[in-house]
Amino acid sequence: MLALAGYPLGLRFQFFDPDPNAPAAHLADNMFHTYSEEDALARFAEGVDLITYEFENVPVSAARLLNARRPVYPPPAALEMSQDRIVEKGALSALGIPTPAFAPIGNGSDLNAEIASAIAQTGLPAVLKTRRMGYDGKGQRVVASEAELRDAVNDLGSSDLILEGFIDFSAEYSLLSARNISGEICFYPLVRNVHRGGILRRSQTQTPSAPGELQAIAESYAQLLLKELDYVGVLAIEFFVVDGALVANEIAPRVHNSGHWTIEGAETSQFENHLRAILDYPLGSTRLRGCVGMLNIIGSPPPVSDVLGIPGAHLHLYGKSSRPNRKIGHITVLRDSEEQLNAALEALERITV
Ligand code: AMP
Repeated sequence: MLALAGYPLGLRFQFFDPDPNAPAAHLADNMFHTYSEEDALARFAEGVDLITYEFENVPVSAARLLNARRPVYPPPAALEMSQDRIVEKGALSALGIPTPAFAPIGNGSDLNAEIASAIAQTGLPAVLKTRRMGYDGKGQRVVASEAELRDAVNDLGSSDLILEGFIDFSAEYSLLSARNISGEICFYPLVRNVHRGGILRRSQTQTPSAPGELQAIAESYAQLLLKELDYVGVLAIEFFVVDGALVANEIAPRVHNSGHWTIEGAETSQFENHLRAILDYPLGSTRLRGCVGMLNIIGSPPPVSDVLGIPGAHLHLYGKSSRPNRKIGHITVLRDSEEQLNAALEALERITV
């Protein structure tokens, strides 16, 4: 989707991906190597002017190796921060951005003492997660008692874990922002996200826009992060809404699934604004084109004609093979009112079970 946004701007692309079946494989010349093949990374850097990434588990060592040869945006320090939930929550807290209470488990010498001290900090229920490599709800468990926590610690591998206070949220929102090399910043309106089994199912704009001061507060948090990290590119922050306040769950230093609706739903898509940011072009307007919703296609594709039979539905299939719980595409739909949007999304949900 980044490349599709970039070709009309006159850009050319090359992709580096360990998977020869990667969706981008059809779009350009590619190099299929693992991220630990340093020679391949160096050759890749030789062939391009600048480098970005859209997957936050790219090893930081690979990003730094590339960055020694060509500019890499967003900065590898942001990638590093997002890869470890403890570092990430520590950095957010240090900037005064609220997060769930959290404590490490599995890196000290006395596991029993760590479990007791973690529960003292987070209370129960709590959510046990792996510190690294978790996504789409993988590597996490809600626990209601110390006994459940012990079992979950065993199941998740005993080391490199984080316990977070369970947030009884009323909604989940995300904020997409972009900052270019000159420091220009833009924000998209907060979108409401609904997860199913830990996987993002639906994102939609709010009508009227997000309640109260939440948009301004979310933007102020994003400003702090963008400046702290000397950030360049699109940054997503996921929030819980609890008692009318925002609590940050996590950041993603890349274009984000909860922003895919911007392709048709905003004047400038997150993909184009990411490219504008890393090329230091002026950022584009983030104005909405209507009430916008996005539905992820998870597992297997729906019949194309059923989707296209819903007026105004835009189908995006990524060319990924079907697999349970795998996001293989999305659908965006625009309407004039929230009621109409909800009805269209519900119709699409019936097609894309
Ligand atoms: P994550 O991988 O951290 O983004 O978590 C995936 C989803 O699990 C979130 O979008 C929430 O719906 C839920 N979740 C994660 N952390 C918590 C928490 N501390 N309290 C309540 N729900 C959570």
